[in-house]
Amino acid sequence: MKTINVSVVTPDGPVYDSDVEMVSTKAQSGELGVLPGHIPMVAPLEIGAVRLKKDGKWEFIAVSGGFLEVRPDQVTILAQSAEKSSDIDVERAQRARERAEQRLHDHKLDHIDFKRAELALQRAINRLAVSERKF
Ligand code: ATP
Repeated sequence: MKTINVSVVTPDGPVYDSDVEMVSTKAQSGELGVLPGHIPMVAPLEIGAVRLKKDGKWEFIAVSGGFLEVRPDQVTILAQSAEKSSDIDVERAQRARERAEQRLHDHKLDHIDFKRAELALQRAINRLAVSERKF
């Protein structure tokens, strides 16, 4: 089975590095799947899950936006933050979701704070979704 090396890097350091059969990400243009031999490209990512097929099984990483770079034998994901599903603190994400929901109910929020709360809510919901898909 052909594989491609995938590394996920954040400002805090590397989160993942492995050879996989396929990687699928949430690009701004839509779901983007990369197989070995994919043409080189760069794409901005949304808050979402990175799905990796390794030894026939799927692994999941939550990422909070960033960039995907595809080179002939290597995929690099540069993310603002990234957590493997098993590293996600579920209670922390639940608290973050509640805080963000509370803020969004506050009608005094200006545009910037509204956007900030909306993104915090998306990050929390994404972490909770990815945490349910342990690896
Ligand atoms: P919080 O309000 O709980 O800090 P956040 O969405 O504002 O959530 P980020 O700014 O995206 O947090 O991330 C800050 C750091 O904390 C990053 O290193 C990220 O990987 C980590 N992190 C955030 N939430 C969680 C979580 N639920 N489980 C594990 N790590 C987390």
